Amino acid sequence: MNWSRKLRIIIQTNLYFCLLFAQNGILNVGFDIDDTILFSRDVFLNLPEDKRNPTDYGWINSHDEDYSLFMSPTVELVHFFHKNGHKVFFITARSNPNGNILAKFLTEELMFPVEVNKNLFFSPKERISGKRYTTKQRIMKRLRLDLFYGDADTDMIAALKAGVHPVRIVRHKDSIVSYSSNYFGNTIDSISPKNPFSLKDLNIFYSSNVGIFGESIYPIIWEGPLE
Ligand SMILES: [Mg+2]
Repeated sequence: MNWSRKLRIIIQTNLYFCLLFAQNGILNVGFDIDDTILFSRDVFLNLPEDKRNPTDYGWINSHDEDYSLFMSPTVELVHFFHKNGHKVFFITARSNPNGNILAKFLTEELMFPVEVNKNLFFSPKERISGKRYTTKQRIMKRLRLDLFYGDADTDMIAALKAGVHPVRIVRHKDSIVSYSSNYFGNTIDSISPKNPFSLKDLNIFYSSNVGIFGESIYPIIWEGPLE
């Protein structure tokens, strides 16, 4: 057999396997971390004063064990996908110092290996003309995700940019205060030009199971932190 025929057979075989792989029913599913997998309000609130400007993610990533709670409905969802052979990835806008400590924390709770740059990715926002924009879409594209679960508008935007189906995990009411840049702003605060909506407005969307980006709403019921 001559070399060109051999090469053609190799290419055809590879194409066949690529098509076979693309056509299987294994989903690539992505999850955000903060307010999606972890209720991490308290790790951010306990960040020492001298580590706040800019946020010291080396400290944050190494203190979830002390302050963050796993959100059981999303943890169960992760287990469902994982047990059924689907691939689960985590993409956070945190930056990566001590990322291996966060990976270890997730591994111990989820009971499958979570490793930095294998199934846990750090994708900090980038500043353009003074505004901060998500970069998660780059990793979503690279991983060829099918679904992405997150709590923030930026998660929905990144998924849309990457052509991934976005699903909103409704943020727990005790956490919403620290996120004012969402479309609905801080709905717990009084109505103002910066926060034009009330919690009632937000709930109209959530009760219709669709968000302003057309995302699906995951009906999470989680009791939240015990105060
Ligand atoms: Mg989040």
